[in-house]
Amino acid sequence: MASLSFTSLGAAGTVTGSKHLLQHDGRSLLVDCGLFQGIKNLREANWRPLPIDAAALDAVVITHAHLDHTGYLPRLIRDGFRGPIYATPATRDVAEIILRDSAHLQEREAALSNKHRSTRHDPARPLYDVHDVEQTLEQFRTKPAHKRFAPVLDAAARYRGAGHILGAATVEIEWGGVTVAFSGDLGRYDDPLMYDPEPIPRADYLVCESTYGDRLRDDLDPAAELLRVVTETVARGGTIVIPAFAVGRTQMILYYLWMLRRDGLLPEVPIYVDSPMAINAGELMRSHPAAHRLDAAHTNEMFAIAEYVRDPEASKAISADRKPKIILSASGMATGGRVLHHLAAFGPGSQNTVVLVGYQAVGTRGRSLADGARYLKLYGEWIPMRARIEDLHMMSAHADADELVRWMGGFERAPRRTFLVHGEPNATEALRHRLDHDLGWRAVVPKQHQTFELT
Ligand SMILES: [Zn+2]
Repeated sequence: MASLSFTSLGAAGTVTGSKHLLQHDGRSLLVDCGLFQGIKNLREANWRPLPIDAAALDAVVITHAHLDHTGYLPRLIRDGFRGPIYATPATRDVAEIILRDSAHLQEREAALSNKHRSTRHDPARPLYDVHDVEQTLEQFRTKPAHKRFAPVLDAAARYRGAGHILGAATVEIEWGGVTVAFSGDLGRYDDPLMYDPEPIPRADYLVCESTYGDRLRDDLDPAAELLRVVTETVARGGTIVIPAFAVGRTQMILYYLWMLRRDGLLPEVPIYVDSPMAINAGELMRSHPAAHRLDAAHTNEMFAIAEYVRDPEASKAISADRKPKIILSASGMATGGRVLHHLAAFGPGSQNTVVLVGYQAVGTRGRSLADGARYLKLYGEWIPMRARIEDLHMMSAHADADELVRWMGGFERAPRRTFLVHGEPNATEALRHRLDHDLGWRAVVPKQHQTFELT
């Protein structure tokens, strides 16, 4: 019998663009279908054709809805993929929000580049548009955690909770006599909103993320840190701007703010959630109550502490008003979105604070701020950044190195080989070294497009 082969088409030696190909007996299956994000040459990789024929691919299995795991799906469909896309029910709903937003961004980027070109002979086209997203949504097939399903003939797959964000899952795929487990992105243990990542007892091979493979979270209490930042800033008469990922981080920050307000600790300043996408993502916590820890009453109580801004004019009015306040706005790495005008408005004032709450990829404005940039390019202009920058990375939705190893401890015995993906080279190498030397696991870092035979 032909063996099962594994090839990473993305997120090999980098964090974004997750696409992992399994092939067996003339059939092929893609696990995740993400967009490359961050520096320009990574983004340009989205335009290079895949080394496989989209129309000949049999199925896609999605671990979770983040853009770097789903954002290439509409392009795959534009290129002719007509097979099923498997996901948990919550992932399908979160993906709808994320992919619609992504199509708008792609369309806007193409329109902008056409506006700035002198010639109209070769108009820029978007990577995909909203019609491709509609077709993508048609092809989703939802599968709950713990229930076996057959993504392709002769294969059996099963999701388990991964924490991380609403709907996120790990997946095991048994095919051609071999079981391969994919971690997707793993969340933190003891997260107040998300459940712990569930252990996987057995797999022959493991494909594991390594985002924070070289980092340990400090033990600082996130709520106490947030309180300190808000209290200090409000005492200076300043505003707190929090670029937050619309899905996950925004709800997490709201949770801590709600706790602090309930305890009477939080200064009485308005809290704005200024992101239609974050508002929609919040609604999904209500429609998928089993996918997180909060009950309905607490979910409502938590959301009641903030004002929600959908209208873009109202968003600008918040920037114009200089009274102390807390603004949660997307995008989380300040690559785009409304948070840019808040950074332009509040970045130059030393009384204000910008709070970073998650992973900041190389090449993003968020990373520049974390690295101490004194100027940011916003709307074509270099704007001075005199606001305080606070990096509360303990708020990240990603397991740190100890938590990754803790999760791997759930395997009854070491997989024959572990492929480390979804990390910048230092992080991945640190984790590989730790697995090799401390646990005696065989861990390798696949190169993009390198194929391994799994027997
Ligand atoms: Zn993720």
